[in-house]
Amino acid sequence: MASVDITGLRKLYGDVVALSDINISIPSGAFYTLLGPSGCGKTTLLRTIAGFHDQDAGSISLDGNPIETLPAHRRDVGMVFQDYAIFPHISVRENVAFGLKQKKVPRAEMDRRVTEVLDVVQLGAFADRMPHELSGGQQQRVGLARAIVVRPKVLLMDEPLSNLDARLRVDLRAELRRIQKDLGITTIYVTHDQEEALAMSDTVCVMHQGVIQQAASPLDIYLMPANRFVATFVGANSFLALTRDTDQLRLTSGGALVSHKALGEQGETLVCAVRPEVLRVAPGEVQAAEDEVSIPAKLSNVSFIGREMEVLARTDSGEVVKSLARPDPAVIALDPGSAVSMCVRRDDLAFFEDSETGRRLA
Ligand code: ATP
Repeated sequence: MASVDITGLRKLYGDVVALSDINISIPSGAFYTLLGPSGCGKTTLLRTIAGFHDQDAGSISLDGNPIETLPAHRRDVGMVFQDYAIFPHISVRENVAFGLKQKKVPRAEMDRRVTEVLDVVQLGAFADRMPHELSGGQQQRVGLARAIVVRPKVLLMDEPLSNLDARLRVDLRAELRRIQKDLGITTIYVTHDQEEALAMSDTVCVMHQGVIQQAASPLDIYLMPANRFVATFVGANSFLALTRDTDQLRLTSGGALVSHKALGEQGETLVCAVRPEVLRVAPGEVQAAEDEVSIPAKLSNVSFIGREMEVLARTDSGEVVKSLARPDPAVIALDPGSAVSMCVRRDDLAFFEDSETGRRLA
């Protein structure tokens, strides 16, 4: 295992800037996730680290040693792909042994290491099966075994769970994390699934249009998003427009006082973000408690989904606000168009500049 340092990395495809000035520092043994929507540059970054793409500028080091000019097979990184990329015509054992054979590892040691790694991924009993005799989750574990058997310094994983069904994804993500921790192998993981990223990582790096938006612990990414893009992508927040009037911030819709914080310039539009789980919904017009803001809205839809009810409502100025809360029969019984109050504690609001990647102000 090794630390990874990336500085000033830039990658163009013709005129498309796929990566723009990427700077990343990953401690040895960490699980580091690149998270972002389709096209944000995650795969390009991973493949550039692996040596499958040349960068246009910047450097990549493992344990302080630059690797960016080395060919892929000399970089000491292992890669696990979304589509497993295992050979269909040879057995599980032979698939896993493949990289060791190429490295001309002696037979006895090769057998020992393959057996050891198959145990780690819990496929010992499947060693002589052919890939088509395995489930998707088992095939992906073969992919993982094949990557780790050569003991790379860094493990790169490109959406390894996305071809699996939902249940298996959840099981396998816990298992992947356990194996990664046991081996202590520095891992860079790509996903567009925010829940997967939050559940597995030491650090989540959110990307958008080839630019890192924020790299922080899962809790900080979720609770303290650095800008509006991160808040949108990770917290599923609703956004409400605010007007600054002298030293007070008021909701544009309904005019409720939101904060005394002196944020932004007089007349500038700001937005505040609300996560669905901190929004309480009540029928009718409710007077806000001292530490709360009550947002008047009209119910668009309420879905009872067992543990929770999901409520969508629209403010007078058309903002869609979403709440996920404990089921309340009085709310579930309401007809669309009914007046509701969406109540939130002032402390649970975050304030941003009003643009796609607008900075967090408080
Ligand atoms: P996804 O989750 O869909 O795989 P991603 O975040 O991994 O997306 P990349 O595949 O890294 O994104 O692509 C980053 C940008 O570079 C996109 O705008 C994409 O269209 C562009 N791109 C990727 N590969 C090429 C290529 N070979 N030629 C030209 N443009 C490319």
